Amino acid sequence: MATPKKKISRSRRNMRRFSAAYKLEESFTLTSCPECGDQIRAHRICGKCLTKGVVARKA
Ligand SMILES: [Zn+2]
Repeated sequence: MATPKKKISRSRRNMRRFSAAYKLEESFTLTSCPECGDQIRAHRICGKCLTKGVVARKA
């Protein structure tokens, strides 16, 4: 396997990780929740409605 010739400095490593996380966050598609109108990621249940559902199921 190819081996890196030099150790990547803490700074360089962190820069790479930070930019990767930033790109991931940017790629989220935001929509509004049909129940409460909050901003949520597409095809994901929103936090508020999730807790509401859990409470409703318990009662
Ligand atoms: Zn909601």
